[in-house]
Formats: sequence, structure tokens, C-alpha cells
Amino acid sequence: MNKRIVYRLLAAVAVVAGFSCISPSHADAKLVTEADATQAQIKTDTYFGTVKASSDKWMDNATGSARVTPAAKRWQSTTITYKVASGSKYYDAVWRTAVKSWNRGGVVHLVTTSGKPDVLLGTSNSPKGKNGSSVGITYSSYYDHTRLNHLDVLAGAKSYIYRNVADHFHYSKQERTNVAEHELGHALGLEHNVGRSSVMYYATRDQSVAKPDFNGLKQSYR
Ligand SMILES: [Zn+2]
Repeated sequence: MNKRIVYRLLAAVAVVAGFSCISPSHADAKLVTEADATQAQIKTDTYFGTVKASSDKWMDNATGSARVTPAAKRWQSTTITYKVASGSKYYDAVWRTAVKSWNRGGVVHLVTTSGKPDVLLGTSNSPKGKNGSSVGITYSSYYDHTRLNHLDVLAGAKSYIYRNVADHFHYSKQERTNVAEHELGHALGLEHNVGRSSVMYYATRDQSVAKPDFNGLKQSYR
């Protein structure tokens, strides 16, 4: 984290959870990756100075176009550290492929760290069980009242693939990788894209990182 800027260390957490309207018997149905974002303040610390800017206009403009995946947040630096902590070689490979996909755009540079990472990548079981509504989840925290390009500045993110749900709906390794890319997109600050040719479409299963997603990164990390 860049210490040059003195933040008002009022961080908030965004928890993304989701729903499904599919029948459990349809093993190849598309699961909603997640749909809801709720925000709760988790910490208040020192206050120095803030730049207050509304992102509403940006959000409205951005969500209207499928060609540019919208963003609500970004990291301060384009170099972002990550750590894979899945406990399995299979999922380590899934996450590393997802990391490569995002790095391929040349906008952000995800690098491994032995220390505390910006982004933690792992797996979990859905608390709603194998028929759970979502197949992945991302938690992100950001600094309130600090913005870059009208975006909130991320302080930390954790992304998980729900193994029990992915297993139950017979996701292939490629499909799980697509889910990993989707969740990592949230960890980079991206929101859902209305278009199906984006990995950030809300019900990703077949789609990998694509041009609209790199366009979104370029816009938010410019
Ligand atoms: Zn999502």
C-alpha cells in the first residue's frame, strides 16, 4: 500500500453474495456468480484530509455500455500482490491461470508475495450448501473518502470459489477458471458488465476475460 497519501482510514467492506434461479437438477445451468453488494463500515481511524467526489455519474455512464466493464474501485498502484491459499494443486492452477489472464492485458501486474497480500485467492464451501445460489464470492475493503479517477481505493480483497457448488453443478476446470477470473475481476475493482461477452457478466460460466474487461481496467487504472 502506498503510504504517500494520508488516508482517512475509514474502511468499508463490500460483500458480494448471490442468487440462483436454476433447478439443481440442471447440472449445466449457469449459476449467478454473485449479485448483491452490501457495504458496512468496519473501521474508523485517523482523519487528515479527504477529497470528496461522487461516483454516481461515473457508475451510471459505465454500466450502460457492454464495451467497457464498469468499475467502482481500484487499487492505488497497478502492481498488486496476491497469494493463493487454496490448499490444493488443482485450485492453485485454476487461480494462477486466472491471474495470467488478467496480467495478459498489461494494465495491472499481479505479483506473488510471501508477505501479506493485497488479494487472497482461495476456495471455500458455500454456507448455503452444494445447491447454493452462487459459485464464488469476493470480499473487498476500501478507503472511504479517498478516490482515484472517481473510484474508491481498495485496501484488501479476498476471493473464493465455492467448491461444493462447482462440484455439484459439474463445472469443468475451464469453467472454474472463468469463475476465478470473474472473482479476481471484482478483487481488481470491476463491477458486473451487462454484456455476455465479458467475464464480468453476472452469470459467468463460459466466458473468459475479454476485451471489454481490459477496456474497463484501462479506464479505471489510467
Ligand atoms: Zn460478480
